[in-house]
Amino acid sequence: MKQSILVVNCGSSSLKLALFDERSEKIASAVAQRLNEQDAFARIDGDNHTVELPANANHKQALQTLVSALRDRQLMASAPLCIGHRVVHGGETFREAVLIDSDVIETINDCAGLAPLHNPVALAGIEATREQFPDIPQIAAFDTAYHQTLAPRAYLYALPEAYYRDWSVRRYGFHGISHFFMANEAARRLGKTPATTSIISAHLGNGCSITAIKDGLSVDTSMGLTPLEGLVMGTRSGDVDPGLFGYLASRGMTLNEIHEVLNHKSGLLGISGQTNDMRSLCELADHGHEPSALAIEIFCFRLAKYVGAMMASLSHLDALVLTGGIGENSSRVREKTLSHLKLLGFHIDADMNEHHGCYSDGRIEHADSRFPILVIPTNEELVIAREAARLVANS
Ligand code: AMP
Repeated sequence: MKQSILVVNCGSSSLKLALFDERSEKIASAVAQRLNEQDAFARIDGDNHTVELPANANHKQALQTLVSALRDRQLMASAPLCIGHRVVHGGETFREAVLIDSDVIETINDCAGLAPLHNPVALAGIEATREQFPDIPQIAAFDTAYHQTLAPRAYLYALPEAYYRDWSVRRYGFHGISHFFMANEAARRLGKTPATTSIISAHLGNGCSITAIKDGLSVDTSMGLTPLEGLVMGTRSGDVDPGLFGYLASRGMTLNEIHEVLNHKSGLLGISGQTNDMRSLCELADHGHEPSALAIEIFCFRLAKYVGAMMASLSHLDALVLTGGIGENSSRVREKTLSHLKLLGFHIDADMNEHHGCYSDGRIEHADSRFPILVIPTNEELVIAREAARLVANS
């Protein structure tokens, strides 16, 4: 009988499932959204019928419903060989994916203070799959793990050292599963091995981060203690002056209100006053909406500055690599960003930028460019499925 690998990705209000066969080919994927809300809904990708979910369905109900739906459609004939979970925060404990046992669960729980929106739902997903498939091995892959190779100069804040020692205050970095995929895929496309390949990897989705990767290892990254630091994002501010917190408090805002604004009402949404969606922003800007044009401008300028900053960690650069919904699809953002980086020798080819994908290996740099520039679709689920298969084979 064919054996599959199930990948579970729990967001704060969503649950995504992906099913792979033993050769890492994707068999099916499914998603439940707006969980714990009145209008929770679910669907199987490529299937026209929505999957019924009860109102206010939680992660456990969503998992049960989607697994039954996959079974009904003959997409999951038997229990999977193993299950891989995406977990946002692994603190300093996890440098790679691990088989889940009670110690691992306890540590994920201990890290929940650093990722209060994410680690508890990942644990809910692990619990739900354990109930549904009690005898199936499960693994956890961490968004932070890939960045555990950062040196102290990159991960320490310039704060009293007791904050790190006593409270674990440091830069952790996120999107590590995606950046790891980019490091490997870029090396493959460049005809090199990951261990000899150095890239700058920009993951530009609703959340955005950029990582310097030296000889296959993460050496600097833009996100920090939390996924709020760094680039401008859909609804997150990215870098602001730390003095802002005291100033906003002096204007009467509470800690919760400041947190809410910086995480959910800032970024592209905050600047444009309209939307966090880059595609919609581009349309608005084309129709003369100036705040939307400004949001795109600020997004690209901050990104360009970070590309420059990431160069400080590298002794050579094999490629700048772009991914995520914006990185993969927005030729406008790519063009605008790279236009700020001519002094460093980046030169985009306008035609290849418009039609990337028609050209080999997603390359969009002009013949004059000092460095290759690649557009590569990320595949975090595949990384997790491969890690799950590897750990189970070795166990
Ligand atoms: P992700 O979180 O990776 O799904 O990325 C979501 C972001 O990608 C949103 O801001 C989308 O508007 C953006 N996006 C997706 N497709 C396009 C497109 N064709 N052009 C511009 N932005 C896009």
